[in-house]
Amino acid sequence: MRVLVSGGGGFIGSHLVDRLLLRDDCTELLVVDNFWTGRRSNLSHITDKRVRILETDVERLADVGLFDEIYHLASPASPPWYMEEPLRTVRANVIGVLRLLEALRPNGLIGFTSTSEVYGDPLVSPQPESYRGSVDCTGPRSSYDESKRCSEAILFESRRVSGTQIKVVRLFNVFGPRTRPDDGRAVSNFISQALRGKPITVYGNGLQTRSWGYVDDIIDGLARFFWLQPTDYPGPLNVGNDREISVIDVARYVQSRFPKTPIVHLPPAPQDPTNRRPDLTIANRELPGWACQVPYEEGIDRAIAWFSKNEELRSASHDD
Ligand code: UDP
Repeated sequence: MRVLVSGGGGFIGSHLVDRLLLRDDCTELLVVDNFWTGRRSNLSHITDKRVRILETDVERLADVGLFDEIYHLASPASPPWYMEEPLRTVRANVIGVLRLLEALRPNGLIGFTSTSEVYGDPLVSPQPESYRGSVDCTGPRSSYDESKRCSEAILFESRRVSGTQIKVVRLFNVFGPRTRPDDGRAVSNFISQALRGKPITVYGNGLQTRSWGYVDDIIDGLARFFWLQPTDYPGPLNVGNDREISVIDVARYVQSRFPKTPIVHLPPAPQDPTNRRPDLTIANRELPGWACQVPYEEGIDRAIAWFSKNEELRSASHDD
């Protein structure tokens, strides 16, 4: 069984690679990453001989043969990163998925991590998969949102006309070990700011909400959907924690762990969605037994422990 993970050097991708390596039927695992937002150090613990790492843009992938399973995660996911290089973001998602379809063996399976950003600034809460979103196709987030939407369209059309086996997941906010400290997301920013003795930066009044999923719970959902649970459902499937928490509450929680750290308010991020919460009705139907187990408080404590240990080591060794 040949398996390919694009974005396998990233935060979520590298955790997915770890889970795939628990499978005996996976005899070859190709990790494709250009290490733009991913990091080699996310894979440095892997000694398994089945793994090969190929440093390339996914859309330029060449001469790798055909694969039984492909998981397409290659894309920046943090607003400052994708806003900095929007066309590169579109290429990774859209041309990336077209390229990966060509590398799929007949009857192979392609899994894709789409995003809750397809719901835009939602007018319904929680958001079921049937909600078509309140989105701006020319706005500052469009390179990410629209390329994820287009990739979903490509996969569903490929399924319709060619019978391709697809599994499309819409991820809500994910946090935990292996997020870059300079990723720019709320939880990683708050923790790395507090660890450096800098103020915690809340954009706007902080009343905007997200549903924060700890990475282990989210990977568990992905593994169940992609290969553990026998289901013909192609998606889209919301995967996330449905406990909705405001940004200011997350900031205050991190502050409670670093009591001398002030919270400062900065201008709101451009077109920042006001709320986000997954409707998990379909996930509960398709993934019986799956539920997020780690509350955000415990997840943040674990992330703080990881950041304190690893980022110190990293800066000492000047690792990527
Ligand atoms: N956010 C914030 N301070 C930061 C980084 C993010 O207040 O330093 C806010 C951001 O404006 C948004 C929420 O936290 O309302 C989640 O942002 P993140 O970038 O983590 O995820 P996304 O916007 O993609 O949901």
